[in-house]
Amino acid sequence: MRELGTGEAMHELVERLYPLCRSITGDGVRRTLEIVAEHVPLEMHEVPTGTQVLDWTVPQEWNIRDAYVADASGKRVIDFQESNLHVVGYSVPVSETMSLDELRKHLHTLPENPSWVPYRTSYYSSTWGFCLAQDTLDALPDGDYDVHIDSTLEDGHLTYGEHVVPGQVTDEVIVSCHTCHPSLANDNLAGIAVAISLAQALAREKPYYTYRFLFMPGTIGAITWLARNFENVGRVKHGIVLACAGDRGSLTYKQSRRGDAEIDKVMAHVLKTSTRPHEVKEFSPYGYDERQFCSPGFNLGVGSLTRTPYAGYPEYHTSADNPDFVSPDSMADTLATCREAFAVLDRDRSYVNLSPYGEPQLGKRGLYSSLGGRSDAKEAQMAMLWVLNLSDGDHSLLDIAERSGLPFATVVVAADALLDADLIKA
Ligand code: ZN
Repeated sequence: MRELGTGEAMHELVERLYPLCRSITGDGVRRTLEIVAEHVPLEMHEVPTGTQVLDWTVPQEWNIRDAYVADASGKRVIDFQESNLHVVGYSVPVSETMSLDELRKHLHTLPENPSWVPYRTSYYSSTWGFCLAQDTLDALPDGDYDVHIDSTLEDGHLTYGEHVVPGQVTDEVIVSCHTCHPSLANDNLAGIAVAISLAQALAREKPYYTYRFLFMPGTIGAITWLARNFENVGRVKHGIVLACAGDRGSLTYKQSRRGDAEIDKVMAHVLKTSTRPHEVKEFSPYGYDERQFCSPGFNLGVGSLTRTPYAGYPEYHTSADNPDFVSPDSMADTLATCREAFAVLDRDRSYVNLSPYGEPQLGKRGLYSSLGGRSDAKEAQMAMLWVLNLSDGDHSLLDIAERSGLPFATVVVAADALLDADLIKA
């Protein structure tokens, strides 16, 4: 298995995945998951076209080999081989000659950023189209053009991958990222790279929770996963949707629908205490696959971590979201944030004080002398008093850290000492 420990290694993976023509189905997704599987063991799932998934149906599988618009001399003026963004995703095959005026109905540009190529899809209506820079379109002379899309849209499969880092308990944390975008780096190759690196780091740590990583096409992939795991979804206790993980903006955490789920408290705590510039936003039923995980029937404790959020930057869904738009440092920072958050989540528990009538005498249990030589003895003692006082079953260690203003790690050390002294129990 290849290690992805550094920002540079994650960036190399983004560059490697970037040219593949992904969509919600097809060989580009399979090839992407094969590359993911070079880094973490992956269970691949192939769900047949026509499968009913919640209120949706798995669509036909789309594959594309070539596409272009050529002028009368045969020169390609729009060429899929240069960038897969040039073709509208899920375009049906076409082979025709038509005037520029006729062709225009099928062309998409970004007049406000005339040198960029937009990203467009048409998954659920049968059509075709090309995307190009406004500058390119403006330079096209009138005349007839050969239009050719060599694609297939036929019964096949929807492909997704799962990787599990086993924990001490079967309660799960899910980390989900979408794998359906073609040549776009921040949305969401950076998310895939960070997820892999996070999985590798967790595997070295023997975590408390079982961590399940989901590499799936957006929307239909999450809906398919939820449909196929309907009976087991109760074991998902927490989760994060990871997207836009590599741009140079600051971090944004979007809360779960519940707003007070444990993951919401953990992310807010870690971001607040880390001194990183950040924003915490309330849930809205838009964005990435938190839309599905937080639909009211499931209502899972799943939030979303991005840097600049969904659609929040001009490069979003354009050719300018290329590997230069994402930075190794940003990906490393997103990874570090996730690791810090999961370290807290993994150790956050609630305890009950077994000696709640008056303060228990710490000295006779050796709990003062254990603090004697420590430079932070005062803080460690305060942490013990806070843990004893708030361990009534209703307050977790994170609640205690928040209420006391003490570092979470200090509260954990105090709890461990009190556990050893049989003064608290889980
Ligand atoms: Zn997107």
